[in-house]
Amino acid sequence: MAIIYLDNAATTQVDERVLKKMFPFFTEKFANPATKWTSSISKEVDIYVEQARVDVASLIEADPDEIFFTSGGTESDNTALKGVALAMRENGNEIISTKIEHEAIIKPLETLEKMGFIIKFVNVDKYGFVDPDEIKNLVSKKTILISIMHANNEIGTIEPIEEIGEIAKENKIYFHTDAVQTVGHIPINVKQLNIDLLSLSAHKFYGPKGVGAIYIRKGTKIDPFMEGGGQEGGIRSGTLNTTGIIGLGEAAKITKKEMDFDGEKVKNIRNSLWKKIQEQIPGVFLNGAEMDKRLPGNLNFLVKGIRNEPLLVALNERGIIAGGGSACSAGSKEPSHVLKTIGINAEDLFSGIRMTIGKFNREEEIDIIVANLKDYVKKLRELSPSWKEG
Ligand SMILES: *Cc1c(COP(=O)(O)O)cnc(C)c1O
Repeated sequence: MAIIYLDNAATTQVDERVLKKMFPFFTEKFANPATKWTSSISKEVDIYVEQARVDVASLIEADPDEIFFTSGGTESDNTALKGVALAMRENGNEIISTKIEHEAIIKPLETLEKMGFIIKFVNVDKYGFVDPDEIKNLVSKKTILISIMHANNEIGTIEPIEEIGEIAKENKIYFHTDAVQTVGHIPINVKQLNIDLLSLSAHKFYGPKGVGAIYIRKGTKIDPFMEGGGQEGGIRSGTLNTTGIIGLGEAAKITKKEMDFDGEKVKNIRNSLWKKIQEQIPGVFLNGAEMDKRLPGNLNFLVKGIRNEPLLVALNERGIIAGGGSACSAGSKEPSHVLKTIGINAEDLFSGIRMTIGKFNREEEIDIIVANLKDYVKKLRELSPSWKEG
C-alpha cells in the first residue's frame, strides 16, 4: 500500500541527497575530528564538519562560530534555557515564555521554576498569537530571558518574533526562539530578528534524526549543559555525531536553495486540501491562524462530534498518516495543551486533526485524503450520539 504521509511536523523523510552525503562517513571516513592535528583522515572529516557549520550558519544568516551542534531540538532548547538561567542567575531570576511552547521548553521551565526561577507566561489569543505589548508589561529588572517559539508545531501560528526581538534588545534581555518548525521552511535572519539563541533540528527539514544545532550569538553568557571533553567550544561536549552533522549541513544547503519552491508547492497542496475538506465535510473548523500567517504545510482542524484517535487509526489503515496534535500528545490521555490554551472548548479538545504537508507530498494525494476522511468522519459520526448535522 502506498503511504500518504501527512505528519511532516513530527518528522520528515530524509532526502536521498542527504543520505548519500552521509554514507561514506560511517565507514571509510569514520575518524573522530578531534584528532585532526595528527590524523589526515580526521582532518578530512573535520573539513566536512566545518562546511556543515558554514551551511547551517548561512541558512539563518549567522556566523559559523555561532553554531554549536547538538542532538536535536530538545537538547538545544534545554541548553538555551538552563544554560542562560545558570549563567545569568546573578542578574535576575525571571523568564518570559508562553503556554503553547513545545514540551522541550515547558519541562525545562518547570525544572527551573523548582530551582527558584520565576516563569511569567504571556497570553496568546484564540489564533495562538502572542501580543508583544503584553511582553513589555511582563518585563522587569529581573528578567534575564525571553523564550518564545518561532512557529507552533501543532497549529502552525507564526509568532511576531521580530517585534519580540526588538523588545528584548531594548531591554537588554536575551531572546531565545525555538525555531525547530521554521528553520528550513521559511527564511530566517537571526541578526535582523534580534535573536540571541535559536534551536533547530535536522529531522524537521529532511535531515537525519538525533542531530540539530543551537545558534548562540557571540558574547552571550551561557553555561554548558553537556560537560565533558570540551568539544564545540566547551558548549557541548561529546564526540561529534559526524554523520548526522554532515547530513544536517547538506539538508541546510539543499533547503537554502529550494525552500521557496518547496514552500510554494507545500502551501498550494495545503490550501487545496483545506478547501476540499471544507467543501465536502460539514462541521470542520480551522484551529490556529489564517493560512498566510501559519506554517506553509500546517493544517489543524476540529472535526465536530468525533474523537481523533479512532479517526487517525482508521486513516492509518488506509495508509494515510496524520496526527492529532504533537507527536507526543497524539493518542495520549491528556488533551493538547496548545488547543486548551487557545480556548478550544472541553468537548472539542480530542477532536483535533493535524495534517502537515511536506515536499514529498503530491497533488494527486489530495482527493484520496479527502475521500477517506469524508468516509470515516461520516461513519464515526453515525456512532456518535452528540453529532447532529446542520
Ligand atoms: C520537534 C520539535 C522539537 C524537538 O526536536 P527534536 O529534534 O525532536 O528533539 C522542539 N520544538 C519544536 C517546536 C518541535 O517541533
